[in-house]
Amino acid sequence: MTMARVERDDGFQWGPTLDGAACTDCRVCLEFCQQGVYAMVDDHVRVVAEASCIEGCSHCASMCEAGALAFPTLDELRAAKRKD
Ligand code: SF4
Ligand code: SF4
Repeated sequence: MTMARVERDDGFQWGPTLDGAACTDCRVCLEFCQQGVYAMVDDHVRVVAEASCIEGCSHCASMCEAGALAFPTLDELRAAKRKD
């Protein structure tokens, strides 16, 4: 399956990176996120719409007990914004 990903010219994209090896498929992130960023793909939770993630939001990562979600740092976001 092809994952939707819209990249800026500088390659920066705010959104989650999911460590599939650490993820337990508990679905907490999928059920919490209202932006449709996550979906079930072949019985596993996957990031399917990273570009729909709200810039600066990382709430789902703090809810992931497996520590399987990572986000860019706010400093990286600020640096990308300065290039806009
Ligand atoms: S909350 Fe974490 S462990 Fe649970 S499905 Fe999401 S990424 Fe996987
Ligand atoms: S950070 Fe917020 S908008 Fe982005 S995937 Fe997680 S809950 Fe959804």
